[in-house]
Amino acid sequence: MRKQPTDATVYLNGQFMPAQEARIPVLDRGFIFGDGVYEVIPVYSGHPFRMEQHLKRLQRSLDAIKLANPMTMAQWSRLVRRVVALNDGADQAVYLQVTRGVAKRDHAFPSHVSPTVFMMSNPMSAPARKLVSSGCACISATDNRWLRCDIKSTSLLGNVLMRQRAAEAGCLETIMFRDGFLSEASSSNLLVVRDRAVTAPPNNHLVLPGTTNDVVIELIRKARIPLELREIPEDEVRAADEIWLTSATKEVLAVTRLDDRPVGGGKPGPVFRRVHRLYQDFKRTVMRRG
Ligand code: PMP
Repeated sequence: MRKQPTDATVYLNGQFMPAQEARIPVLDRGFIFGDGVYEVIPVYSGHPFRMEQHLKRLQRSLDAIKLANPMTMAQWSRLVRRVVALNDGADQAVYLQVTRGVAKRDHAFPSHVSPTVFMMSNPMSAPARKLVSSGCACISATDNRWLRCDIKSTSLLGNVLMRQRAAEAGCLETIMFRDGFLSEASSSNLLVVRDRAVTAPPNNHLVLPGTTNDVVIELIRKARIPLELREIPEDEVRAADEIWLTSATKEVLAVTRLDDRPVGGGKPGPVFRRVHRLYQDFKRTVMRRG
């Protein structure tokens, strides 16, 4: 039996302990300012998926907020495997977070402070068959977040408010447009299909460089499906044959309704079905290799 979230084993600053015993001081800058970064690594049948890419993105986020990485890649990798082993359950999502540590409240960085390192694991299941076969509904909104959406920061209030809007509308995600162009969704990246050709927004400061999106783009290239990375105007998204969401836990999902109107034929399209199959095959191959 998988442990309940409260008796799951977490890692905090060098120690493993039951989740309900883990404590951080109230002056932790993660708590006070959201001054920290994080990653979520999916684990299938006990094997972390694309761990190296997640750890590289962690390094990129740490560099962007000028916080020294408290561990080497090898140490992170060992810790992730340890957390997986301690939280029995083949499929899980390992969450790791680094904050600038505990210091008197002052916006400027403190000197000589150790970062706080926290890791936990949550049960994860692949998106339900029904969701994959029917697709999901989304709403849209103007992207009102800051201009460093490429940093995987724990300061997620903008994303939280966007996701809540979707939840209140009975939808999975809020798709965001900035200055008339597609950016991303509250917790996923987006791709758009028109006339069997795929378009995706380029990685820049306005979107998180998604690890799942990278896999999907690699698979599209390998399958020689036409692909263009460029800014996508809002009217092109609304006229698309297919819209897809990607994220580590949602994998690749078709958006079949946007703002209560069907996307394309209102069902997951043929390019989605092909790429979804390629993604599942790729996952299976990686898991077999271990
Ligand atoms: N954009 C945002 C805002 C996210 O929070 C996420 C992760 N949930 C993604 C994109 C997708 O990134 P990944 O594929 O690495 O999970």
